[in-house]
Amino acid sequence: MRTVYLDNNATTMTAPEVFEAVHPYFLERYGNPSSMHSFGGKLARDVAVAREKLAELLGATPQEIIFTSGGTESDSTAIMSALATMSDRREIVTTRVEHPAVLNLCKHLARTKGYVVRWLSVDKEGKLNMDEVRNQITDQTAVVSVMWANNETGVIFPVREIAEIAYERGALVHTDAVQAVGKIPMNLDSSSIDFLSLSGHKLHSVKGVGALYIKKGTRFSPFIIGGHQESDRRGGTENVPGIVGLGVAASLALQELNPAGLRMRRLRDRLQKGLLEAVPRARVNGNLESRLPNTLNIGFEFVEGEAILMRMDDKGICASSGSACTSGALEPSHVLRAMGVPFTAVHGSIRFSLSRYTTEEDIEYVIREVPGIIEFLRSISPFGRENFDAACTIH
Ligand code: PLP
Repeated sequence: MRTVYLDNNATTMTAPEVFEAVHPYFLERYGNPSSMHSFGGKLARDVAVAREKLAELLGATPQEIIFTSGGTESDSTAIMSALATMSDRREIVTTRVEHPAVLNLCKHLARTKGYVVRWLSVDKEGKLNMDEVRNQITDQTAVVSVMWANNETGVIFPVREIAEIAYERGALVHTDAVQAVGKIPMNLDSSSIDFLSLSGHKLHSVKGVGALYIKKGTRFSPFIIGGHQESDRRGGTENVPGIVGLGVAASLALQELNPAGLRMRRLRDRLQKGLLEAVPRARVNGNLESRLPNTLNIGFEFVEGEAILMRMDDKGICASSGSACTSGALEPSHVLRAMGVPFTAVHGSIRFSLSRYTTEEDIEYVIREVPGIIEFLRSISPFGRENFDAACTIH
């Protein structure tokens, strides 16, 4: 059976070039870059090259980049640093649709340290209201943390514009760009963004490595304190294979940015059209224009997302649902809930996320298989189309 992997916002395949570049670092070049001997010491050069490549992708300078263990660590480092260096301010502004790496940290800080979190809402297309952004960022705001693009819907936020507003109020700005880096161009050089998080495994590098951009001149307080690595900004022996892989992945992403973006957009749009034409009562979740080129979130009404995923899995199709199973109950996604997606569609929402390796055949296969799955599930569901109104009146 073929495998069609459309879950690239969860994680990506390691690019063959990254795999090739990384494997000598296990059996041959396994030294510690901080060593006095050249066997280890020369690896510091390889880490520096990776930093240069990543800086190029971001439109930043190498000194503005530190390597971390991934997106979650970068998010925590940025927010904690901002709060430590802006200690006279007690407010955090963020959105209701952040990844748990930011969302749960902010809730934790409110609960345990008494910070006031101002939550920005989104409209039914998942977009922010810029008047609300202007009102919520005040001279009491320590940090504004707004993701560059949403992992569930792909909706892109106007982060550069928000950074300008924050800058005027003297607040620091962090963006979780884990889903955006490598998919859309970014030039940090000309922005007021202070911190940007990214993660290797979302851009065809390996898991367990990421980076944080810290704008030159932005005050910084380390989160992981230990040795003198990363110019005293992040203790711990460098993950050299991961860092080298991230450098190679960054170069590939930069080379491929435009052609891959166009291809993914064309294939994603084909998938969207094919599914919407073939499946009645289906809707796209998220704004159609300002969206990552690889992401499609569709709500299939009157069906259960988990059931769709299981049936798709039987056909070798990998995607994600809008619900998460917590303590035995299916919790609808906080993102779709914040957007006010009707409950008839929220549970049946599926995220398809493509990569530059996705083929036309993959997309045609999904368009052929998925409509039958939905039709079948609706036919056996107590919430099937015909029964739905009746079911609502009984409860
Ligand atoms: N932020 C966003 C938007 C994500 O999508 C993810 C991963 O799903 C993360 C942060 C966490 O990144 P990592 O898995 O590298 O810790």
